[in-house]
Amino acid sequence: MSAMDAYNALKTHLKEHAHLVSFSSLAEWDQETRMPKGAGDTRADMLGLMARLTHKMFTDKKVGDWISECEDSDIVANTDTIEAANIRELRRSYDRQTKLPKEFVEEEAKISSKAQQVWVEARKKSDFTLFAPMLEKVLDLTRRKAEYYGYEGEAYNALMDDFEPGATVTEVASVFDALRPDLVDLVGRIADAPRRPDIKIIKQPYDVNRQRLFSEMVAATIGFDFNHGRLDEVEHPFCTGFGPGDTRICTRFYPNDLGEGLTGTTHEAGHALYAMGHDDEQFGMPCGDVNSLGLHESQSRMWENQVGRGRAFWTYFFPQAQRIFRDALGDVSLEQMYHAMNNVTPSYIRVEADEATYNLHIMLRFEIERAMLAGDIKVKDIPAEWNRRFKNYLGIEVDKDSNGCLQDVHWAMGAIGYFPTYCLGNLYSAQFYAAARKALPQMDEQFGRGDFSGLLGWLRENIHRHGARYRAGDLCKKVTGAELSHKHLIDYMKEKYSEIYGI
Ligand code: ZN
Repeated sequence: MSAMDAYNALKTHLKEHAHLVSFSSLAEWDQETRMPKGAGDTRADMLGLMARLTHKMFTDKKVGDWISECEDSDIVANTDTIEAANIRELRRSYDRQTKLPKEFVEEEAKISSKAQQVWVEARKKSDFTLFAPMLEKVLDLTRRKAEYYGYEGEAYNALMDDFEPGATVTEVASVFDALRPDLVDLVGRIADAPRRPDIKIIKQPYDVNRQRLFSEMVAATIGFDFNHGRLDEVEHPFCTGFGPGDTRICTRFYPNDLGEGLTGTTHEAGHALYAMGHDDEQFGMPCGDVNSLGLHESQSRMWENQVGRGRAFWTYFFPQAQRIFRDALGDVSLEQMYHAMNNVTPSYIRVEADEATYNLHIMLRFEIERAMLAGDIKVKDIPAEWNRRFKNYLGIEVDKDSNGCLQDVHWAMGAIGYFPTYCLGNLYSAQFYAAARKALPQMDEQFGRGDFSGLLGWLRENIHRHGARYRAGDLCKKVTGAELSHKHLIDYMKEKYSEIYGI
């Protein structure tokens, strides 16, 4: 078999693998949107079987042989080609999936399932001591996992690599360290600002059917293709897809809040636009997908925040919102609406946090999980350490563990190294957006007339079509001409909030 035959065999095999994975995603989408409650056990069996089959298909020895065959050939000679990138990323995934012993994977699944149940109970009672013994076990497992994977520097690098390939703890920490003091200062000044947006504009009765209509109109206008996608309603918003031509977004609408449903839609539509922009020809291969959660989140955050909370966006959509929600918005001005969409208030819960304070929630988690993995913070000391930092960063006292270190499920799941990708997403988003503005000086004026195709086209060309061809950090350098920096995010926030809050 020639190396090119091996490459083509890989492509065919992995396309079939991707179709099978799509069946699982379809079953999961159905589970969240349509499935009758009583079908849960059968669905779990179906998904378990499918996970086993797809894992077996991907870790098949012949896949490893095909990858090796390509690695010994001209296919990877020029590291800048799509083919070389596919082989590089396949090697990485194949090695990671085959490095963990079967018994370890089973033990991990069991402990994580148990830890999540204990966490639910501990959170309900707001009692960290109930969860602490399980967290010790999870930590022990994740340390062992890092050893199986192998790493340079800290064990945290090995774990973060599951979510953000190529990122190192040193690089992430240095960007976060640079951002933190400026952000703490900005959030503090906003808290003391005399001028505050009237958030009652957003939080008042809004007919849910009309909200759905408005959200669909917004999604379609920014470029979500309803001929190749759907919008449905769920408890927890998400985006999924079943291969080229079928991308689904799910959001939720509240009868007394316009913001949640709308920003949920622009966020998930941002993820969807990314997926819709992948190269169909590469479906099943790494360059037809993306493996960096930070990059994915950069796209959702950009449409949610930089675009969807921006003045130019509202210049176009506000008159339409006024026509649809006459009772709520009849007497509101565009300026009041824009301000209300950009309210900043420190709060306990990460998932409810605004655009500015959100990043402080993430930095705190990154620092604590890095220290606890290294053994620098003892598990029993986590609540005190959490609360101390929270007060320093956000200026408020944590009243109970369920509002503090027990609020997120990630640690119970063993997903240590996941949190930083949320903040990386915000940082990449700001840096990409600054580059897009430079390339498209007419962008705001285009948004003001409801034309978002300039930005979408720029993202398609520079980011979407590449999939996993470049690691996130390298793509950032390629697209913006510089390494990831805190500067763009803080500049963007300072500019926006100093005007809104008069600070
Ligand atoms: Zn997201």
